[in-house]
Amino acid sequence: MKRNPRFDILFEPVQIGPVTSKNRFYQVPHCTGMGYNMPKTLAAMREVKAEGGWGVVCTEYCSIHPTSDDTPYPHATLWDDEDVRAQALMVDKVHHHGALAGVQLWYGGCGMSNLLTREIPLDVASLPSDLRIDPVQSQTMDKKDIRQLRRWQVDAARRALRAGFDIVYVYATHGYLLSHFLSRDWNQRCDEYGGSLKNRIRLVREMIEDTKAAVGHRCAVAVRFSADGSGSGNGIIDNEEQRDMLEMLADLPDLWDINISDYSKEMGSSRFVKEAALDDYVAFVKKITDKPIVGVGRFTSPDTMVRQIKSGLLDLVGAARPSIADPFLPQKIKAGHFDDIRECIGCNICYSHNTRGAPIRCTQNPTMGEEWRRGWHPEKIPRSQSDDTILVVGAGPAGLEAARALGQRGYQVTLAEATTQLGGRVAAECELPGLSEWRRVIEHRILQIKRMPNVNVYLDSRLTAEDILNYDFDRVVLATGSYWRRDGIARWHTSAVKSFDSDRVLTPDDIIAGVEVTEPVVIFDDEHYYMGAVLAEKLHRAGREVSLVTPAGRAAEWSKNTEEQEQVQGQLLKLGVTILTGKAVSGFDGESAELICIYTGEILRQPASSIVTVTARQPNDELYRQLVSDPDALSISGIKSIDRIGDCRAPGIIAAAVFSGHRLAREMDAPDPGAVPFRRERVTI
Ligand code: ADP
Ligand code: SF4
Repeated sequence: MKRNPRFDILFEPVQIGPVTSKNRFYQVPHCTGMGYNMPKTLAAMREVKAEGGWGVVCTEYCSIHPTSDDTPYPHATLWDDEDVRAQALMVDKVHHHGALAGVQLWYGGCGMSNLLTREIPLDVASLPSDLRIDPVQSQTMDKKDIRQLRRWQVDAARRALRAGFDIVYVYATHGYLLSHFLSRDWNQRCDEYGGSLKNRIRLVREMIEDTKAAVGHRCAVAVRFSADGSGSGNGIIDNEEQRDMLEMLADLPDLWDINISDYSKEMGSSRFVKEAALDDYVAFVKKITDKPIVGVGRFTSPDTMVRQIKSGLLDLVGAARPSIADPFLPQKIKAGHFDDIRECIGCNICYSHNTRGAPIRCTQNPTMGEEWRRGWHPEKIPRSQSDDTILVVGAGPAGLEAARALGQRGYQVTLAEATTQLGGRVAAECELPGLSEWRRVIEHRILQIKRMPNVNVYLDSRLTAEDILNYDFDRVVLATGSYWRRDGIARWHTSAVKSFDSDRVLTPDDIIAGVEVTEPVVIFDDEHYYMGAVLAEKLHRAGREVSLVTPAGRAAEWSKNTEEQEQVQGQLLKLGVTILTGKAVSGFDGESAELICIYTGEILRQPASSIVTVTARQPNDELYRQLVSDPDALSISGIKSIDRIGDCRAPGIIAAAVFSGHRLAREMDAPDPGAVPFRRERVTI
């Protein structure tokens, strides 16, 4: 397919101060969970984006001084010359592909606890962190501290210049220091940095002017600013005031990177926030500045991108997640390969691992974060090393990805699926409230497989061990998934709850299959991710009276990592779902659930005509165990290897299943990968 001239506008160059982006594709700063500890890992990951056609590739938040340290959240640093060398690794790789490199200089203020450095955080006032719940308060900045901060920004900007960066940021949003100075609520100062609007923007103005004076001859100076109330929390500045501030600073920077202050909306999951959701917030900015504007909106549709430019909202199409899910998005649009685009599903698994202090990963793109340590590339994969024929059993995300990637390698692959549809758990779960975009995980893979003459798909084919032994495949991969447990076993119960042996105790599989649920229904959520809350919503919308019982302190506790927890809990409360925390369901008599308080052991009763156990899952590994239990039969059948992948090996998130399928395909025919399956990046002595 050829490039459609409709998209030419996306490939126009854009002048940004003293530098020019070759096109309008701008990878905005985003967390990676790698930080200053993993410069090679980072450089390789960012390089792939530049190779994939992004005109600008930025770092994550990059601390300008040890008094801004977000440990244990991995972040970049530009504190000294060693950091310059580390950052230059990324810059060189990005430049190699003709892209510009941007660095998001950052000072956290009282949002940071400085757990690594033990330095005292500085802020507009002496306040506890609103971002990290640690017993830490900041020191109120006096004039000397403000002068020092300005010097740190200048020093870091000069280091950025030495590292080769083309775009240097002043970061004035997301609840960090500068947004506190801007805020009418946070900033109660009586000096020239507080009070009037002019005073409150003084520090941001000075930081922009200082940065321009230091590096503006070679680098563009970008300002990240929110179009709604700045800072974090509850409408600290109204939109009108924000507009006034932007007007006062309008033509000072070379680029405006506009977003909104609330992360959970700005990078909201697809459950709550759809593509291009920030348009209404950003719309006014173009009218008050002649400088180029970049903004985000989880843009995955080329048509939406064009609309952003043509309607005069943005000059550069900003993306974090779409560039993670598909680093080659620009190139695919350019080549007209629209069907090859791996669209982000908005699950926020990428962000969740930064929150856990671990390197980034992605549900759609299993190579994300593996570019350096495993040498994986999102588009390229080594050719097969043999003529082995491969049977993949089960077409959930693991089986589909294994079949796709093995097919891409050139193997002769047969994919057998028991049911009449492809997609396994994803095909089922994307029908649940809010999860429709998850379908993209299977759609993308099905589309790719359909084009591969060497991959044959058989539906309605529930295979037995005997079938498999009687076929003539060299290798067998089992991707038969898992099912939800009915006996209550997960984290709280490690042995079966006897009274759960009732036909009114149901599992998520039953609800998805449409089994009738009598009310009131108690959902026992000891999984803590999305399933409990999503089923509560589904059953509530079907008219059932629902309570959600969890041993955790909040509903869907783990979804705090995906920035969804507060929205999930808010939504359930608004719907009228009863949330009972700190309790486990310990019994059921057909009329009520017995609940135990996890702190006191007190027993309570909650009316219940049915129970739904969102607990552990059981690997569906019967077939695997049957096959490996008979080595003689295997050797007679000529099968060289039996592998299991995805949930059938160990139930996990969809991203883990996709990764598992991809890894299997990469390692097929590889020599024994040994004890450490990837290169480790560490300080060498
Ligand atoms: P994963 O997340 O690991 O990919 P899923 O549960 O999503 O697992 O998918 C497993 C798939 O395997 C389901 O579509 C299921 O119908 C299929 N399956 C299970 N057992 C068999 C079997 N014996 N033969 C063929 N397909 C099977
Ligand atoms: Fe998108 Fe999910 Fe990948 Fe993040 S992990 S980029 S939200 S698909």
